[in-house]
Amino acid sequence: MSRNRVIRCAACAGRIRPQHPHIGVEDLETGVEFSYHARASCQKRCVEETVTRLEAGKVYAMHHYHSSTCPDEAPGFGCAGGCFDTPMAVAN
Ligand SMILES: [Zn+2]
Ligand SMILES: [Zn+2]
Repeated sequence: MSRNRVIRCAACAGRIRPQHPHIGVEDLETGVEFSYHARASCQKRCVEETVTRLEAGKVYAMHHYHSSTCPDEAPGFGCAGGCFDTPMAVAN
């Protein structure tokens, strides 16, 4: 599952660098994974689209890929590396 390929954000179609933080939403039936940038606007689309797919009866697993420089050993939202924007703290 870790082939070298270009990852594109399903929200804005922009490229995601693998060493930068991003979110993956994996369809557990097909193994297809949708990727999104960690920034708030793309995360918002991620949540909206995932809710729509869940309503269609799909089963998903969410993955949080942290920055390659993130110092947190058990990363998640609010990690020490500050990888993910939260909707409450949009920094422009
Ligand atoms: Zn994006
Ligand atoms: Zn992190």
